[in-house]
Amino acid sequence: MKKMIAGLSVLLVIAGCGGPGVDRSDSLIVIDAGHGGHDSGALCEGSKEKDLVLQITKKLYKEFKNEGYRVHLTRSSDKFLKLGQRTRIADHKDAKVFISIHANAIGDKSRFSQVEGVETYFLQKTRDEKSQRIAARENASVLQGTDKLSKDVIIDAVLNGPKIIQSHKLAIDVQNNMIKNLNSKYKGVKDGGVRPAPFYVLVGASRPSILVEVGYITNPKERQRLFTSGYQEEITEGIVEGVNQYLDNRKKEVGF
Ligand SMILES: [Zn+2]
Repeated sequence: MKKMIAGLSVLLVIAGCGGPGVDRSDSLIVIDAGHGGHDSGALCEGSKEKDLVLQITKKLYKEFKNEGYRVHLTRSSDKFLKLGQRTRIADHKDAKVFISIHANAIGDKSRFSQVEGVETYFLQKTRDEKSQRIAARENASVLQGTDKLSKDVIIDAVLNGPKIIQSHKLAIDVQNNMIKNLNSKYKGVKDGGVRPAPFYVLVGASRPSILVEVGYITNPKERQRLFTSGYQEEITEGIVEGVNQYLDNRKKEVGF
């Protein structure tokens, strides 16, 4: 029996994965590793957000390729990108989704051990203070050189667009699958939920777009896990399964 199962899985791999009969080759996925170069992102105990998100992004590249997708990365090395460079590639005409990968941090040292968890964001204005605070931190580096009026114009241009509903759905599928996978192997991974927030890196992208905060590098337990290959693989698989689920449902919705 074991032999048969092994044989079956080999067949599935040869068939291109993604389930029998699923051809993903018409779908381009754009993955954006946050920060890079002089912009380290969040820092804690020598660990840098820019390094962590690049490691996860490289795993995502492989996994999406295995599923048969075409994949573009906004960066595959330690370099800084301007906001326009990040989103221009996401606007490639047949890109299906844009996923920006980040890691979270808090400033209050006395709460480092308490604040943890995985969160997924989609672009929308919000009054929620926590979401605003996280967006402000992530926005600081990508907004260098952009004046206030331009910021307001670009964000207003997309805030009521049809992509919000799709981005929200994508965020839910990705978040649920990440949490399911992580909690199947690790104890007590906190589900920080799906939240709206005004992240500028999502503004220029006219595809369903989400920003994943994979965990808090200021939390000692989570930081240690985040830099292990096993934990990164559960995050990666969760994101890929979430995208599969979203796109499969989308196909059913539009009726083909
Ligand atoms: Zn970040």
